[in-house]
Amino acid sequence: MDTEMLIGAKFEKGTEAGEPVLNPKTGATILDLPEAGATQVEAAVAAAEKAFASWSRTTPAQRSACLLKIADRIEADAAEFARLEALNCGKPINAVLNDEIPAIVDCWRFFAGAVRTMPGQVAGEYLPGHTSMIRRDAVGIVASIAPWNYPLMMMAWKLAPAIAGGNTVVFKPSEQTPLTALKLARVLADVLPEGVVNVVLGRGDSVGSPLINHPKINMISITGDVATGKKVLQAAAKSVKRTHLELGGKAPVVVFDDADLDAVVTGLRAFGFYNAGQDCTAACRIYAGKKIYDRLVADLSSAVSTIKYDQPDDTENEIGPLISRRQRDRVSSFVERASELKHIEITTGGRPGEGSGFFYQPTVVAGALQDDEIVRREVFGPVVSVTRFSDADEAVAWANDSDYGLASSVWTKDISRAMATAARLQYGCTWINTHFMLCNEMPHGGLKQSGYGKDMSLYALEDYTAVRHVMIAHG
Ligand code: NAD
Repeated sequence: MDTEMLIGAKFEKGTEAGEPVLNPKTGATILDLPEAGATQVEAAVAAAEKAFASWSRTTPAQRSACLLKIADRIEADAAEFARLEALNCGKPINAVLNDEIPAIVDCWRFFAGAVRTMPGQVAGEYLPGHTSMIRRDAVGIVASIAPWNYPLMMMAWKLAPAIAGGNTVVFKPSEQTPLTALKLARVLADVLPEGVVNVVLGRGDSVGSPLINHPKINMISITGDVATGKKVLQAAAKSVKRTHLELGGKAPVVVFDDADLDAVVTGLRAFGFYNAGQDCTAACRIYAGKKIYDRLVADLSSAVSTIKYDQPDDTENEIGPLISRRQRDRVSSFVERASELKHIEITTGGRPGEGSGFFYQPTVVAGALQDDEIVRREVFGPVVSVTRFSDADEAVAWANDSDYGLASSVWTKDISRAMATAARLQYGCTWINTHFMLCNEMPHGGLKQSGYGKDMSLYALEDYTAVRHVMIAHG
């Protein structure tokens, strides 16, 4: 197992004591990893600064070739990457191997192609005797900070467009899930010139904070909690850094009376509970029309009660545990507080799993009202709420009545109603008769406190490059 950080061309252990990395299925310690000291963070930024001078002047074709090699190396070693990710996050091995790794490899390949075909405005004479052109150039040194829910995928979403755009990066994985980042660091050191990507380990306060506050950092990219996003904005204000924020979500799911109930139930069983609900787009806040409500609650509860999550044969599991005891207890306390309300019924689940791992039973909270905490706050666990609505206006108003604005979905057989509702939802993404489906060609990102800046797609490449105007006077 790789345990050393990548700083410039060197692999080295952190100099400070860190937190133990745990196996969420058992609660046991996998290993203790020291975290970066202040001089190591300094050295990583210096290495990225040094590399920027030459990396930012490589051609798109040269950078593209590197991205393709990284994709090939991940694909060739998919089984080991998947094993480590499953171990560190508690994810079912098949979910990592069959869903995540192909999407990760495709992300690297997408940006390898995209950077060679970036579209833009034409050059021309906008003042007589002068020719103007628009360039898109690298922003500079990016501090890139990832969460624990999809470690290797978030690394791809952040690094691929950043280095494709000619930037250099200091990357910090979550202190809870550093193992695949350390393995990928070996690949990055083989494929990329020294210092283009540096990987430092550590907690938010002790390592993340000095990194984002570093005066040499030009851009901060973070996926994490809203509270952390606000700290990033404060850090950015000091030296006017560019920011790219992917924060939380509380996705509304509007189910009209005419929806295909079987499709809704199959969809919500999958998209509300994937990755144990630790997903910022999870289909967790269900609004059901008054005629479909009872059948939806009954069928969804019975479907959710069959989700496999703690089988000894991991290939049978559909979801895993939560990432930590703290997260499991947080989810548990949300459900406990909800169950104390008279109008709430927990129709399936509602308890922590057995044993020392951080499991929580897949849970449906029925009868929830718009002002209930369970409807308003991000639970980030295998828990969905169901709320009855009376008409489309009420459903749209409640769906939009949220601090978050990342993802949403509408379920109906009436395409006019679907389009009209989608147009009124204030979310970065609205799916119709599905949820959660992502592809590298399409942007992912939010509105409101879910943040701004897009991952994936050409829009990410735009976010990681700066528009510049060059004008020539003809004389
Ligand atoms: P978190 O904000 O606690 O941590 C995210 C990262 O930020 C970690 O690497 C952490 O060490 C770092 N960090 C924490 N404090 C910091 C500070 N002061 N300075 C610099 N870095 C700091 O979030 P988490 O608990 O790891 O992840 C879960 C959250 O991420 C959820 O709210 C979820 O919705 C969100 N998320 C959003 C998206 C999206 O695309 N919008 C995707 C995945 C997760």
